[in-house]
Amino acid sequence: MLLAHRIRIDATASQRDYFARAAGTARRVWNWALAEWNRQAASGQRPNAMALKKAFNRIKYSDPDWLDSDGNPWLRAIHRDAHAQPFANLAKAWSRYFELRRAGQPAHAPRFKKKGRSPDGFYLANDKFRLEGRSAVLPKVGRVALREALRWHGKIMGASVSREAAHWYLAIQVDVPDYLARRRRTGDAVTGVDLGVTNAATLSSGEKIAGPRPLKAALRRLRIRSRRLSRKLEAARAAAGIIGRIVKGTRLPASKNRTRGALALARLQARIARVRRDFTHKLTARLCRENRAVAIEDLNVRGMLANARLSRAIIDVGFYELRRQLQYKAARYGTHIVLADRWYPSSKLCSGCGARNGVLALGERAWTCAGCGAQHDRDVNAAINLQRLATGALAARTALPEASQAVTRGAAAGPGPAGGGEVTPVRHEHGQQDGSGQEENAVHICTRNR
Ligand SMILES: [Zn+2]
Repeated sequence: MLLAHRIRIDATASQRDYFARAAGTARRVWNWALAEWNRQAASGQRPNAMALKKAFNRIKYSDPDWLDSDGNPWLRAIHRDAHAQPFANLAKAWSRYFELRRAGQPAHAPRFKKKGRSPDGFYLANDKFRLEGRSAVLPKVGRVALREALRWHGKIMGASVSREAAHWYLAIQVDVPDYLARRRRTGDAVTGVDLGVTNAATLSSGEKIAGPRPLKAALRRLRIRSRRLSRKLEAARAAAGIIGRIVKGTRLPASKNRTRGALALARLQARIARVRRDFTHKLTARLCRENRAVAIEDLNVRGMLANARLSRAIIDVGFYELRRQLQYKAARYGTHIVLADRWYPSSKLCSGCGARNGVLALGERAWTCAGCGAQHDRDVNAAINLQRLATGALAARTALPEASQAVTRGAAAGPGPAGGGEVTPVRHEHGQQDGSGQEENAVHICTRNR
């Protein structure tokens, strides 16, 4: 089972300097490769990442673009993994793009990376570094201090160094043997989880879990810091005598004040991300630990983000991240994840009699069933419907002939149940859903999948 551990590096000033240069190199090589790719594609050729890498290797120590002011190839100072990996990443990005397009999903072609906009980071192959307790020995920089030792035992597959605000992190990918990666569950329940805006999660037990809403709390501060930074930018432009749009490639002279402002903003954004991550980790761990099966709605996050009024709260809770964590933790706890497709009318079905309330509006928090007269809390009712779905999916599984095999496998691995860790999508033919805010939206909103 592939698991990653991201550890903060206590870097010295010279180490930070190297990291920044290596990340800059990775970005620049990506941009070079992408430009070449686009150029070849435009002239009717079929670009290929391996061939591009070979072409780059031929010029990287001689082309004037890659020499410093003294005519020396500066790339020699950076470990080769940092400038080799972008080619593999680019090949992956293109194949993902073509795959999404074939599937008819919204996608955009790989883009150029911009300094300060794209995340900074670079790759290290598994044989290029070693870990010694709370330190790591990295190529070109030597020993770096880590905040903690690697948590997993297993085969180290690779690592990446990346920056978040002012700090650098080492993320190590480890192939952990299943028997070590497995976690023992404390419960055997089947739970439906309604993800929402008012409450981050509502469980079929009736429990409502409020999100930390870090973005909302920090929003005022975020606005202030963004405004301060944009004023500093404005001042820098005025000082440089630039009126109107900045010509591409123009570099405003860096001032200490502006750098400080940008850092303050980045620090706040990083803090918001940390609070959010912490919350989703705790929630998803708990759901997987306490349940034999968890059903959630496979929300069309892209469509929901297109709804501007909802989007802030949704980004705040971090649906994508929540679902991603739920899926990989399910494998560790042997929990079955049931995904109800987005046409499943979980909010509109009466969990008592199954009647469908076709007129339920998005804002209605409570409703009474016209069929049986039951009073429903919108979210709890939806969660109960999802729980039903999970129970049904489990029953269907045990009825299948291959279930006996899964039971044996689960028994051998310890407390894992039949089919644990698998994800079952459940399809529904209810057609387009109306007014629930989850409809397919033609507007393509790009969200970074973290
Ligand atoms: Zn009813």
